[in-house]
Amino acid sequence: MNGNKVKKELKKSITILVPAGLVLADIFDKVNELAKKYELAVYLSTAQNIRILNVQDENEEAIKAELQKVGAELKGPGKFPLPRVCVGESYCKLGLVDTMALSDRILAKYKSREPVKPKFKIAIAGCPASCSNVLTTDIGIKATKSGYEVYVGGKGGASPKVGLRIAKGVDEERVFEIIDQLIDFHAGKPGTKMRMAKLLSDPDFPFAEV
Ligand code: SF4
Repeated sequence: MNGNKVKKELKKSITILVPAGLVLADIFDKVNELAKKYELAVYLSTAQNIRILNVQDENEEAIKAELQKVGAELKGPGKFPLPRVCVGESYCKLGLVDTMALSDRILAKYKSREPVKPKFKIAIAGCPASCSNVLTTDIGIKATKSGYEVYVGGKGGASPKVGLRIAKGVDEERVFEIIDQLIDFHAGKPGTKMRMAKLLSDPDFPFAEV
């Protein structure tokens, strides 16, 4: 490791957003075709997106245009965060809810709020096993046998934190009311970025631990 602070030159990549982790066949085919044509590498990101690596400057715009032609949405500033989801009840014996449907419903409701401030993430788990890491996410929604639990302010990174449980035993409608309030609160705070964890100590934070 070199202790000197030299600005690192990063290689170029393009990220395709993948709602609920489901890749449509046309996008899959196009990624495969482009990977062969331009000698790209395909990386499945920890945020459940597809990141295309090894993009050369001269090919970047052509690759983006080809992807957008088949309906791919590319990552960019101000986009509402795609919930990270586990597979849920349709594919897991322990699953209690349809996590993908809930993710779709969240996106249908909140995508129109773009642009949103960066630095907040959402995760949904279909049971208490929490495979999608709901406890270490800004807003974590976990299904249990007695209803949903909602966590806020969790984070990973260099100083990981478990989120505060602010609701338990609630139905889906109440989950949406809570998300409404959290998003409004987050958006109403000054600054261009803000992790939810920082807002937990705000005197006006609208929820207490349950
Ligand atoms: S969180 Fe539960 S429902 Fe989701 S994949 Fe893990 S075990 Fe299955």
